[in-house]
Amino acid sequence: MQPLAQPVTNLIDAFSRLPGIGPKSASRLAYFLLRSDEEIALTLATALQELKANTFFCGICHNIADKDPCAICDNNQRDASVICVVEEPLDVQAIERTGAYRGVYHVLHGAISPVEGVGPDDLKLRELLERVQRGPTRDLEGAASHPPGIAAPFNRAEATESRPTESRPTVARPTVAHPTVSRNSTIQELLVATNPNLEGEATAMYIARLIKPLGVRVTRLARGLPTGGDLEYADEMTLSNALAGRLEM
Ligand SMILES: [Zn+2]
Repeated sequence: MQPLAQPVTNLIDAFSRLPGIGPKSASRLAYFLLRSDEEIALTLATALQELKANTFFCGICHNIADKDPCAICDNNQRDASVICVVEEPLDVQAIERTGAYRGVYHVLHGAISPVEGVGPDDLKLRELLERVQRGPTRDLEGAASHPPGIAAPFNRAEATESRPTESRPTVARPTVAHPTVSRNSTIQELLVATNPNLEGEATAMYIARLIKPLGVRVTRLARGLPTGGDLEYADEMTLSNALAGRLEM
């Protein structure tokens, strides 16, 4: 049998390394690209290149962004005295879609999970503590251990396995004045929006113990009945949470 052309083999190998893609799917994708318009392959190649080259961690909130600080941290219309703590960047998008939140974020990149061997040190919890201690007005200055725009490229392993503040080379801070993102000099509220599951709850409890001694108000997203839901079909935990979190009308 004639061996495959090397570029085809290379692409099949590359696809095979992606999660959920077996050798058959990898071959199918490679042959699809081979047969389709050149534009499709070029668009994909450009998107892949830009994914690594132009994606950064925001030095303040640790969200994935195309600049540092990210558009939310850099927006002085946002209330930097309220920080919403989430597990993943997708959670930021979910809350942003509501249009109901005007504060800023802090992305932990995971949740405490003893089963999976994820402890507090694997998350951006130390950074959260430092951020709350620092206060919002000095947020931007404090985060600029590297000039905006040349932040460390996004690396998932870095998100959970090491602390970029330690590994990042020290670069002279830019002399330009950063905008003041809040009139308040202290963080007023920490809204913990970790997932309502075992890991999310453990993380929320840890955060409360970490931050409350600083005198900052720590709140948790309300848990209750889903809109359009039916009371009789709600599970006991959801219903008891909804009872405990009842609101004044
Ligand atoms: Zn940010």
